[in-house]
Amino acid sequence: MKKLCVLALWLIAIVFLVPATAHADTISQAFSHNLSSNEPAQSWEHKIDLPDNLNQQGFSFFRRAVTLTGKLVVEREELTSTYYYIKVRLPKAFFGSKGNVSIQLEAAKELPPCNPVPPPTELSIPTNSNPLNPDFSWKGNGKYSAITLYDVTANNTVWERIIPGVDKYSMTEGRLDIDHHFKWAVRQSDECARYSPETQAGFRLELRMMMCQPCFGRGWIMCTSCNGTGHILVQGPNGQQSYRICSWCNGSGRRICTYCNGSGRVQTPVLIVE
Ligand SMILES: [Zn+2]
Ligand SMILES: [Zn+2]
Repeated sequence: MKKLCVLALWLIAIVFLVPATAHADTISQAFSHNLSSNEPAQSWEHKIDLPDNLNQQGFSFFRRAVTLTGKLVVEREELTSTYYYIKVRLPKAFFGSKGNVSIQLEAAKELPPCNPVPPPTELSIPTNSNPLNPDFSWKGNGKYSAITLYDVTANNTVWERIIPGVDKYSMTEGRLDIDHHFKWAVRQSDECARYSPETQAGFRLELRMMMCQPCFGRGWIMCTSCNGTGHILVQGPNGQQSYRICSWCNGSGRRICTYCNGSGRVQTPVLIVE
């Protein structure tokens, strides 16, 4: 009987005391998106509000965790004390694409301290990256990075991503314009989504005459019909063999390179760091 009483007291304590002392709450939401075959890329915006009952009790949002699956990417986000905003995107894909974003938001009454993240450093573009879709890399200890690519010449933002947990990323969508100047900026945040000031870097794209890669600058490639020999072995009606001149290359064994039209040089996009 005594044991039962103790148990009952414990139950009462759990039922009445725990809600009274709770000072943190978690709100989870997930969104799924898909694109059918060859459908154009699309972005979606989601806003999650702090529930009224929590707002009235003096709670505010202070932490978020974002998990992505499939091809879904994040373009933008904002965490305030009363809402979380996120913009996600699915790129166009030949066989269609889909993805899922799971968001966990923590609301609390007495906010634990959240130190701002220092701005990232060492922004660089590897020299072997494709100038029209560059690779970007940076250093920093933030858990999330926000990267924005801005076309200074056209005066618009051409690409933006929020990337969890990496310090390099390739521009996987769209193409940059030749003869334009660009600025790219990276900010970093922790789980509180408090972003550092941005660190900027710039570059421009231009066309330069470069050696033609397919023909190694020679202007010609080997004739594949005769393997560069200039003649082809033919079989007569009685089984006798003879050589005739290769009609594809007129016996030269070479064909003009169609990439450079025989000049050995082509205009190639080049990225110049500014
Ligand atoms: Zn030939
Ligand atoms: Zn060539």
